Amino acid sequence: MNNLEKSERMPALFIGHGNPMNAITDNPYRDAWLALGKILPRPRAILCISAHWQTRNTQVCVAEKPETIHDFGGFPAALFAQQYPAPGAPEYAKMVCDLLPAGTITSTQNWGLDHGAWSILQSLFPTADVPVFQLSLDVNLDFAAHFALGKQLTNLREQGIMIIGSGNIVHNLGRLNPNGSAADWAEKFDFYIKQALETGDDAALIDIARAGDCAKLAVPTDEHYLPLLYIAAMRHTDDKMQFLTESFDLGTLSMRSVIYQT
Ligand code: ZN
Repeated sequence: MNNLEKSERMPALFIGHGNPMNAITDNPYRDAWLALGKILPRPRAILCISAHWQTRNTQVCVAEKPETIHDFGGFPAALFAQQYPAPGAPEYAKMVCDLLPAGTITSTQNWGLDHGAWSILQSLFPTADVPVFQLSLDVNLDFAAHFALGKQLTNLREQGIMIIGSGNIVHNLGRLNPNGSAADWAEKFDFYIKQALETGDDAALIDIARAGDCAKLAVPTDEHYLPLLYIAAMRHTDDKMQFLTESFDLGTLSMRSVIYQT
């Protein structure tokens, strides 16, 4: 991880969040998030696009005090006790509405920070004093439309807003292999995406069927993959791209994380 030079343009990040327990256990991903947090610039606000908020039509949360949402089951009480009391950013959320065509986005008070957001923000910005707001994933859009929507939000980076996508490039909970190595199809798809990111091949990111049969196993449902499209769409021609973590957790969760920074 190279030092991030100061820039007027805020970075855009995609973080592979994986198991919610990564937030509170000692593990290499949390270590990497804590280290990254120490060198990230301080944004005016953070826009988080999480795998865990899906809606009909795109929504943006305008809550002034977004609640910490524990949107999972079967985990220890210690995880349910976590709070991330960052303020919201309704003024920036309204800026997002202004950037998109009328009728394509609605604002709502009815969300907060789901674990896709807070489980990584706890390490990236531990003091929870940077305003955070979330944008949802519209279940009716195809990959190209998600990418196009992300592109329309690119200018937020010039306004002091850091964009963080939170998901996983490979995410198959039905085939977890907790004590084994990564599945062949998982590594194949992850490598396909790695190459597409390195070469700026947006078409390959949008049309993942080009990766072959591995795509269906790696992305059995699209919500953990889609945040990557938003972040890739916000790439600036002057950006450098770096990978933060690149390994697999539990055999079928790619923890590859991507940083775009000018
Ligand atoms: Zn998740």
